Amino acid sequence: MGLSRTIWNDPAEYIRLHQPENPVMFFAPSVAQAAARRFIDGFPGLVTYAVKSNPGEEMIENLAAAGIRGYDCASPFEIDLIRRLAPDAAIHYHNPVRSAAEIAHAVAKGVKSYSVDSRSELAKLVAMVPAEGCEISVRFKLPVGGAAYNFGAKFGATAELAVELLKIVRDAGFTPSLTFHPGTQCTDPAAWETYIRKAAEISATAGVKIARLNVGGGFPNHRLHAVVPQLEEIFAVIGRVADEAFGADRPALVCEPGRALCGDAFSTAARIKAIRDDSHVFLNDGIYGTLNEMPQIGMIDRLQVISPEGVLRRGAPEPRIVFGPTCDSVDRLPGDILMPSDIAEGDYVIWHGMGSYSVVTNSRFNGFGDLQMATVLSTKL
Ligand SMILES: *Cc1c(COP(=O)(O)O)cnc(C)c1O
Repeated sequence: MGLSRTIWNDPAEYIRLHQPENPVMFFAPSVAQAAARRFIDGFPGLVTYAVKSNPGEEMIENLAAAGIRGYDCASPFEIDLIRRLAPDAAIHYHNPVRSAAEIAHAVAKGVKSYSVDSRSELAKLVAMVPAEGCEISVRFKLPVGGAAYNFGAKFGATAELAVELLKIVRDAGFTPSLTFHPGTQCTDPAAWETYIRKAAEISATAGVKIARLNVGGGFPNHRLHAVVPQLEEIFAVIGRVADEAFGADRPALVCEPGRALCGDAFSTAARIKAIRDDSHVFLNDGIYGTLNEMPQIGMIDRLQVISPEGVLRRGAPEPRIVFGPTCDSVDRLPGDILMPSDIAEGDYVIWHGMGSYSVVTNSRFNGFGDLQMATVLSTKL
């Protein structure tokens, strides 16, 4: 999936000229850079990017150009990617479970920040990673809601265990820090408040002053037309509560957003292959493609439909059952999807806000998923 040298004005121009048979991801570098600047200007601490949400080189290069200097990596592949594209950036290896070979790889690449949520994984780090100038962040979890997807189901120590781990980290000579992830697409600022207050309690109970508090990703992207995320409100809550909870011992703050940095920079165009007997819509993209996340996180309703000539369909919205191209019956978008009443076979459905967990989870199942990529000045139609 190479990036063409041509830059198109918008998706409609590309579609009019190419009438692509395969799904297309439209990337707007200006939007990626604006998202980065919004975080850098607004977040009261260091902004790092969670590479897993979209590890495309064009994405990383634009974030680096906009001033992102830290990256949350989950694997040796992601570590090598960042070392190549942003050689001077800080790497936070924040997948709390790693094989010995993976740890050795990170040490060899000079990684100086790790997260941990269990005694056994901490023992591996203590044995293999030189403590000098190296930070270990204890990841903890709480039973709080507010997000579309519960990250605590897999990772995170209880508060009690976090107290114990923090002491071990300090006693082993590492720089002690804390981290959490409130869950992805978290629209409730109160989730951060609860976590930050708990972090202060954990630090006080352990008697360990923490150097940094990483407040995770989870910052929401614009998925529903009517709900525009207020990131500045979340930034303000994080700054205020960190001051209140830690007072003079306030740690430096770090965040590691994924979807909120890459989401809006991409729009997906899926072609209507068929409208079967005037009813069900079949697309050339689906849940094994770039629409993979829709069943878990919920639909994105920011969609528009254009004809092959690039003309916007303006019919009144009508509910449709929409399937992806594979022969698997789970390849269906959740619920009813509102589409203009005048859609026709051969049209293109364009979803906005599609940059996260889409390109990277796209598969070639059933021979579909030959995703094309096009750079645009703007994703707007
Ligand atoms: C996935 C992940 C992120 C990014 O989450 P978003 O919801 O995309 O912002 C950040 N940190 C860690 C540890 C993660 O696993």
